[in-house]
Amino acid sequence: MTSDRSHHPDTILAHAGRKPAEFGGVVNTPVVRASTILYPDVEAYRASRSIKFGSLRYGRYGTQTAMALVEAMTELEGGDGAVLHPSGLAAIAMTLRALLSPGDHLLVVDSVYAPTRAFCDGQLAMQGIEVSYYDPALGADIAGLFKPNTRVVFAESPGSLTFDMQDMPALSSACRPREIALVVDGTWATPLFCKPLSLGADVVVHSATKYIVGHSDAMLGVAVARDPWRLKLEKFAALNGIIAGPDDCWLALRGLRSMGARLRQHQDCAMGLSSWLGVHPAVRRILYPAHRSHPGHPIWRRDFTGASGLFGVELVPCDPGAVDRFIDALTLFGIGSSWGGYESLVLPASPMRTVGGKTFEGPLVRLHAGLEHPDDLIADLEQALAQLDSATRQGQENHHGK
Ligand SMILES: *Cc1c(COP(=O)(O)O)cnc(C)c1O
Repeated sequence: MTSDRSHHPDTILAHAGRKPAEFGGVVNTPVVRASTILYPDVEAYRASRSIKFGSLRYGRYGTQTAMALVEAMTELEGGDGAVLHPSGLAAIAMTLRALLSPGDHLLVVDSVYAPTRAFCDGQLAMQGIEVSYYDPALGADIAGLFKPNTRVVFAESPGSLTFDMQDMPALSSACRPREIALVVDGTWATPLFCKPLSLGADVVVHSATKYIVGHSDAMLGVAVARDPWRLKLEKFAALNGIIAGPDDCWLALRGLRSMGARLRQHQDCAMGLSSWLGVHPAVRRILYPAHRSHPGHPIWRRDFTGASGLFGVELVPCDPGAVDRFIDALTLFGIGSSWGGYESLVLPASPMRTVGGKTFEGPLVRLHAGLEHPDDLIADLEQALAQLDSATRQGQENHHGK
């Protein structure tokens, strides 16, 4: 049932990694739990020692469930292979470790996911890897920041919390001639809405915890790579004993089958909410690449085929307590880390930036548009923003009264 890479992504989502004939006709690849794999004789056992990564030999290299997910993700991204990790952060951290050695230089986008920054500044720096940050607006001009020891550029498009878009083809044009690996965190778009490898990236990493699993009930990471980088990642995973559990892989496979339908509904919902918020007097700016006002909109139109449900809002300046009260007043938006499940979420956002870029006068709030009906979510936002309005007015009156 292996699908054809020329098929549309929706078709690949339905068919990739499924092998009913191997499981008595069962539609879904089952959860295969195993440590020991038995061999018929010593000769077969010896032969298995030299076979390639990703074949059935011992549970630590994955079973049919993990292999089905590897196959599906590789096909979706158009890569040469994939490595599974116990979380998205592990996929990022282990990919960077695999590609860097002491003395190497790493360039990371300034709008990177905060735990990625913490890993680079802490763990990688401790290992003698030089880490510096670049403005997300840089394209091919990133070459000006290259040093003789630059080995990896780590991009994330759009970036976390501020949703800055990155020109991946331009970054790639600077990296390729110098054999610098371009690694992209593609979590926001999923392979359905953007394929970084086709835009010149060498490795794409995902927090599958988000839209791929899609139901807020498992942690999982994936790195899909093209050769020769793929071989480095596989070797590193094998030597370090990195594996994702079959139950989590199965949840990710189940998530993939409906991801196209879910993502389009997340997109419709986020478009509805962001358009409504964009004209609300309490809102200063919408941070959503699909929104016409977004500075990265032209790049999004050129390189992406859709937008997911996560976006930011810059409110008009008000006191921080009022923002907390607005968030607390929402009844349909849960307050919590992560996103990509079917439910709507909200968090206050305070991005850390070290190389300039965009600045914000008002407080930032991050919203995840879930699969609820947008009218109900808008009504919820309306009543909660009314509280912010009155709080802001009161704040201004107090301020003027002083
Ligand atoms: C959540 C997230 C991660 C980390 O994934 P986990 O599965 O939570 O470890 C990495 N990158 C981005 C952009 C994320 O949003």
